[in-house]
Amino acid sequence: MGGKVTLVGAGPGDPGLLTLKGREALAGADVVVYDRLVSPAILAMIPPEARTIDVGKEASHHKVPQEQINLILLEEALAGHNVVRLKGGDPFVFGRGGEELEALAERGVPFEEIPGITSAIAAPAYGGIPVTHRDYCSSVHIITGHQRAGKPLTIDFEALVRTKGTLVFLMGVTAMPAIVEGLLEAGMDPDTPAAMVENGTTSTQRQCDATLATLPERAAAMGIHSPAIILVGQVCALAERFCWFDHLPLRGQRILVTRPRDRAGALSDRLRALGADVWEYPCIETRPIWPCPAMTAALEHLENYRWLVFTSPAGVAAFRRTLQEMKKDSRYLSDVQLAAIGSGTARALADMGLIADYVPPVYDAAHLGEGLPAEGKVLILRAEIGSPALTAALESRSIPYDDIPVYRTVYDNPRSEQLRSALEAGEVPFVTFTSASTVKGLLATVGADADLSRVTALCIGKQTAAEARKHNMTIKIAAQATIDALVELAQDAASSLEYTFGGVML
Ligand code: SAH
Repeated sequence: MGGKVTLVGAGPGDPGLLTLKGREALAGADVVVYDRLVSPAILAMIPPEARTIDVGKEASHHKVPQEQINLILLEEALAGHNVVRLKGGDPFVFGRGGEELEALAERGVPFEEIPGITSAIAAPAYGGIPVTHRDYCSSVHIITGHQRAGKPLTIDFEALVRTKGTLVFLMGVTAMPAIVEGLLEAGMDPDTPAAMVENGTTSTQRQCDATLATLPERAAAMGIHSPAIILVGQVCALAERFCWFDHLPLRGQRILVTRPRDRAGALSDRLRALGADVWEYPCIETRPIWPCPAMTAALEHLENYRWLVFTSPAGVAAFRRTLQEMKKDSRYLSDVQLAAIGSGTARALADMGLIADYVPPVYDAAHLGEGLPAEGKVLILRAEIGSPALTAALESRSIPYDDIPVYRTVYDNPRSEQLRSALEAGEVPFVTFTSASTVKGLLATVGADADLSRVTALCIGKQTAAEARKHNMTIKIAAQATIDALVELAQDAASSLEYTFGGVML
């Protein structure tokens, strides 16, 4: 079977700007060859079974040379693999995509190209600068500012100035003073609005608004680094009115998300969409207890129970697997009532086509035990070390139950000194905790003696907060045990904090 190469544009940084077709190509890749500018969140979409080749490593300032990249693509495709060549922005906008295709075309290797959103347009957009506007210009020009060592720039500045269009320079941070000088010498008005956008579309985006004449000094004062784009033209004057990205409620706030390994996505996505700089640290893992003869035996005698009780989506997943193993479907459950601790667990049941008969008004173990409208015996399928509040409440109501552990929480992360020092230094002001076990997981990662006094713990509920309180953090608790409420809590906490970002007050 012949292989194929798909050139995929990963977009400028914000993972939400990867195209649907690009995501599909990634999902089907055997091998992914990627560059330095591809965001970690997009790399995280690569299927675990795919092989990855990093050709953008700059450890010793030696990237893999282009000829060698061409060769890697060729060899992998000829070996029959489905190769995705993942590039920052758009592959054909200063991305050397054309050179890679040449090599493939020469050998008759089939290929496809999936365009990406280029930083030349997206970074200005996130900086509040539309690259064209009818009132200001009738063209936009994308120019490389790359300067070969020791050589002068080979840009026809006079031609550019004559266009009166918007000028977008990529790879121009080093040559920026020379670019400005070239434009001024070619007769451009020194008061022409100009800007630079660094790390555009990411949570670390910074922007320097200036005029052509003041740009070098201002950019130097802010210490603007690569990757950044340079914009020159009247449209830059609109940035002040249009800078929507800087006004997102969590803009620039660094938040550590400590959810279990397989469930971090939703919360992180929500926080990122509000502008947060999310660090994902999946510091616990839930593993089904498998095989689980106790659960199988209980389910084989389901007639003994009136209620089936779930306290997490992980418990529902273990139950689902056992039912499948037993070759039973929802018809088998027709005589039993179902209870879920909260909306997330109820949703996991809904994914199986099952409706929870009872969800407590407050999503925690105590309320579940107190409110369960039980008559008859209860079967609890939950974590190995579940909250005693549930069983205590049932006992006080003299309701019989069987409490069967169906999964366990594993804390086997490597120690992270880097995370520890970031937390101790106050570089990560907020940490979200969605269960008491995520608190334990974080402590296992950074060490029990870590000084967390500069951390604000955003806790999903009381039991989580009780665990967090043991570690000298500032505690905030969500109004309800839901992801929505946790996201709201993050916004409240952030708005009550004055925060400097890269030396600039936001
Ligand atoms: N193919 C890419 C460009 C590659 S050249 C694209 O279409 O975006 C690399 C240059 O792109 C960098 O030097 C910088 O000028 C620009 N660039 C890439 N990502 C950027 C980002 N997130 N913010 C600002 N500039 C970026």
